[in-house]
Amino acid sequence: MRIIKCLICGRNTSVHSINAQKKLRGKIITLTNAPVYYCSACKETFLSKETQDVFRYIQDRSLEYKYILFDYDDMSKKLY
Ligand SMILES: [Zn+2]
Repeated sequence: MRIIKCLICGRNTSVHSINAQKKLRGKIITLTNAPVYYCSACKETFLSKETQDVFRYIQDRSLEYKYILFDYDDMSKKLY
């Protein structure tokens, strides 16, 4: 994965895997082991493009009506 600069301070971020959450149509969806960028200077976390793509995939197919918990590795295999 490409390393991006922090959107706030411009320093290099590092990639971490976290349980990312996003609200889709009023439901909180959790994506386990999702890669995010973390800036240790700002203590800020930014969703990676890969993680955003998975959330979009879930939203496009209205999967949040059936489930609220998804695994990043399982879902990313469907995308790429
Ligand atoms: Zn920063």
